[in-house]
This record gives sequence, C-alpha cells and structure tokens, in this order.
Amino acid sequence: MKIHSLDVYVVDLPTIRPHHLAMHTIVTQTIVMACMKSEDGIEGWGEVATIGGASYCEESPEAIKLNIEKYIKPLIIEKNPINFDALSHMIGTHVKGNYFAKALVESAMVDLVAKTKNVPSYELFGGQCHTSLPVAWTLASGDTVRDIEEAQNYLETKRHNIFKLKIGKGNPKKNVTHVIKIKEAVGDAGSVRVDINQAWDEVTSLYCIEALEDGGVDLIEQPLVRWNNEGMSKLSSRFKVPIMADESLGTLHEAYQIAKHRAADVFALKVPKAGGLTATKKVAAVAEATGISMYGGTMIESSLGTAICAQLYSTIPEMTFGTELFGPLLFKDNVTVNQIEYENFEIKIPNGPGFGMEIDKEKLKHYSREFVSSLS
Ligand SMILES: [Mg+2]
Repeated sequence: MKIHSLDVYVVDLPTIRPHHLAMHTIVTQTIVMACMKSEDGIEGWGEVATIGGASYCEESPEAIKLNIEKYIKPLIIEKNPINFDALSHMIGTHVKGNYFAKALVESAMVDLVAKTKNVPSYELFGGQCHTSLPVAWTLASGDTVRDIEEAQNYLETKRHNIFKLKIGKGNPKKNVTHVIKIKEAVGDAGSVRVDINQAWDEVTSLYCIEALEDGGVDLIEQPLVRWNNEGMSKLSSRFKVPIMADESLGTLHEAYQIAKHRAADVFALKVPKAGGLTATKKVAAVAEATGISMYGGTMIESSLGTAICAQLYSTIPEMTFGTELFGPLLFKDNVTVNQIEYENFEIKIPNGPGFGMEIDKEKLKHYSREFVSSLS
C-alpha cells in the first residue's frame, strides 16, 4: 500500500454557546481535517483542533494546513503508511516542532492502515482497556444559579457527574467563591474541578488553591504559566488536592522534565500536544513509570477528533481522572454521518474500522473554508 494523496481542510464549526477560556472565547471552533488516500482509493481521515487561532499554542489552523502541504506531504507521498511510526520519525528529522500538524498526519495514516486491515485503530495500539470512559462537562455561564441548575440537570439525566470550571479570567476571589458554591450544591454526587489556563501567579495560587481545597474541589488544572515548572512543583508538594499539568505538558521530553521535578500530580494527555497517538502513549508511559495519574484532555475536537482521542485513551489501563471528551456536544453540528454516543456519565469508545467515524462530505463542503471540488 502507498500514500497516493493527502488533502487538508480548515473547517469552522459553530458552537451552541460561547466557551470561555483565559486566553480566548470560542464561538466558532476551527478544526483541521486531513484525508489521506491509498492508491486503491481507501480514505484515512484525521482531525486536530486548536483554540483561538494561535492564542492557545504556537500552531494556528492555517499554519497546520500550510506546513503539512508544503513540508510534510512531499516526504510521505508514495510511502507505505503501515510503517506510520517510522514515517513519523522520518518527518521529525525534517520538520521541527509542528506537533499538531504531525499529529494530524499520523492520525490520517493510522485511520487508513486500520481501515485497510478492517480493524478499529485501537488494535494498532495494544487493544482496548476500556469500552467507555467518564466524561467531564464544562460549566461556563459564569452565573452561579444557572451553573448549579445545569449541573443538577446533567446529574439527573446521567450525562455528566464531573464538572470543570474555567476560572482563569476575571477576579480570582470571586471565581473561587462561585466554584465553592457550585461544589456545595452538587455535594458528593459530582466531582468539581477547575482549570486556570496559566492565569494565576504563585501568590494568587497559594490563597486560591487553599480555599478550593477546603471547599472540596477535586483537581486544579494549570494554575501557573506553562514554563513555571518550579512553581508547579511547589504547589504540588504543598497541597493535597492534585495539581494537573496541561499547557506545560506537550512532548515526551516535557513529560520527563515534569515527572523529574514532580511539577504535577496528574498529566492532561492530548494527542496533538504530544505530536500524535504514538507519542501520547509514550507520555502515558512516563506517567505510569513515575506514579503520575492520567486524564484524557481535549482541544475541543469535533466527532472525528474526539473518536481519535477516545480510541487512544481506551488503550491506557489507568485513566484515573477520566476524560473531558465533550467536544461534539459543544458543536451545533458535526461533519460525520454517525455521532459520538454518551451514556451513563461516560463516552462510548467508537469502534472501527479505523476510528469508526464516517465523514459527511456535504457537511464538510459546507463548513470548510475552501471550495472542495475534490470531495465527491
Ligand atoms: Mg486545560
């Protein structure tokens, strides 16, 4: 089998409500999709998402598309995707950084290979440890009463019992009071967690985390700026409530440095941050080897990207803190024929072939920025 073609699409999908982070508010989420075809016409599809152009990380959707088309695609055309690990390594010797772009290309290769073998992609990564995984929801109205009502509704309908609040923006003390009131209302029925998205300094973190810990919050995500592993290490040793690394954790080498300096108690895994599925498994191995817990993060991917992450996370035995693979629920529409299923507080891991998602090409044409004449 040979890679015959590789096409990349930038796709803008509207969300059901504004999604606030410290660095950006999402009202339309931009994903990047790739279609890789073999010489006999089998299609492998991949997806990655970034947040707010280049506001979350260095790679914007436009840069991902350009760098794949100009620098990565010529390296792999006519190569055999069955050797996707070797091809990813070869790409790495020619293209520095660009982890999201590399993850997108690898996911398309994996989908193509798994479809050719007529197996789910997770079989290429050791097989499944989980058929479903817990899935968190983000409460984001900013209004305490409305957020409590939303949480109680999801508890009753058994959709979510893990609630995350993005509290990097605004007054830290007010935000902490808001979170603690939600925890009081939810009680033992749900887990309440916070994500600061790097917005606090060490002084703010000290008094806020103390209050959150006393208030029963279960997890503190990336309180400090991503380069401050020393500060994260101090917070991790000072507090009982676990501190999670998200923006500070990307590559395998960053995982090692965080583990070495104990600059987190939990890793937020994300396939594009690490540079692909294989790389994410290696990051998970660092966590496993050093007693760090794991959590399945999201870049707010649509249904295909969520399936990619879900299948990979399903191969990791100890996903102690569950996942936040709620992306498809935040979109008004998705570009797949079949949809991700949620049941009993969990996401059901899609089954193959490949990542188990069929692309809806009419919808892709509708939402993609380019007029896509090659899509039939
Ligand atoms: Mg985060």
